Amino acid sequence: MFPGRSPHDSREETVMYDHRKLGRELDLFDTDPLIGSGLPYWLPDGAAVRLALEEYIRDVERKAGYRHVYSPVLGKRELYEISGHWAHYHEDMFPPMDLGAEQVVLRPSLCPHHALMFRSRGHSYRELPLRMAEIGGMYRAELSGVLGGLTRVRAIQLNDAHIFCTPDQAVDEARSALDLIAAAYDALGIQPVRYRLSLPGAGGKYVADPELWERASALLVEVLKEAGVPYEAEEGEAAFYGPKIDVQIVDHAGRESTLSTVQIDFYQPARFDLEYTGQDGAHHRPVMVHRSIIGSIERAVAHLIEVHGGAFPAWLAPRQLIVLPISEDEIPAAEALASRCLELGLRADISAQGSLSARIRTAHLTPYQAIIGAREAAAGTVSLRLRDSRTLPPLPAGEALGRIAALVRAHRLDLWDPETGSILSFN
Ligand SMILES: [Zn+2]
Repeated sequence: MFPGRSPHDSREETVMYDHRKLGRELDLFDTDPLIGSGLPYWLPDGAAVRLALEEYIRDVERKAGYRHVYSPVLGKRELYEISGHWAHYHEDMFPPMDLGAEQVVLRPSLCPHHALMFRSRGHSYRELPLRMAEIGGMYRAELSGVLGGLTRVRAIQLNDAHIFCTPDQAVDEARSALDLIAAAYDALGIQPVRYRLSLPGAGGKYVADPELWERASALLVEVLKEAGVPYEAEEGEAAFYGPKIDVQIVDHAGRESTLSTVQIDFYQPARFDLEYTGQDGAHHRPVMVHRSIIGSIERAVAHLIEVHGGAFPAWLAPRQLIVLPISEDEIPAAEALASRCLELGLRADISAQGSLSARIRTAHLTPYQAIIGAREAAAGTVSLRLRDSRTLPPLPAGEALGRIAALVRAHRLDLWDPETGSILSFN
């Protein structure tokens, strides 16, 4: 399974789409000059994809022992002076806002907030590893010339988490994060181009503490070796406070960027004076593992659009099923089927205007097309047509929807699995 490769991928390997063009054509997102460049908004179909993605992430995080938190997108300037962002990352931050005697800034990362939340309560070694997750906003003062679509934005929603743990637990935690990344890529039908061990380079961007860099780099190498993934070490790509494992993807134009990251950090815990009480009753310094399964929601959705060309995996599709009544007589049956879809948590619409073939063409990105003629309406059945043009013999409506809902719940890439019938419950 690692690195993820699914049968679904073969089709897209040679063709990728420009997500900016497709995003507008499919009414997923857009921008307005009055809101500003690099500040896209999400239209209902794009928001449906994003919500499904966020629900998936929160669900896998819950199952992996993470607890979710919320924290504000603003913080005082002093917070970023302590974290080191002010000294090392200032150019990428928005200018501070003056509020009387204090200055607040839009946060450039979630780490300092999470470190303070950990520090706000006493912790015993028994609570570690403590896994804190949030899909939260962060901001980057990109110049308008480099902004475009969802990949270079000024307001970012990051799938972030920080694991506070003992030094002995750090490798296992980072390794588990790589497993979550691999499983997510399988469910999303995407593949990394390579794993990169990002090390510091020349220049003053990085905190000066050679021992810290060596310790963290050695642990990350151990993680990569244990995971058995080939990787390339590259200087000049680290975070200012430590090395990281970056999972790299390419866009439609062949440009490489980082989607997911895993970091082992000794620097922030020291800056924030984090501690826990050990088995010996003394205070000890925890390690912070920073990790993001799918990186920013914006970049992840941009990549999904480019890889799938709008034909998203069924569990992500803005419209999972379209009901196509053959004539007006079947509209009541179509409405009843659409209602059952909603009850099962499926996103469904009815298309009743125009010829059947034209409606099928219009719905070519919708994973499931449910055709209801006079025979189906009378028998309570439905004829399913899949997005890949496969057609199925009429099935009882409850069975058809039950199978689709099960595939969606399992985050499967295949649109139909005749073998699953026996394990589903039908109504
Ligand atoms: Zn972090």
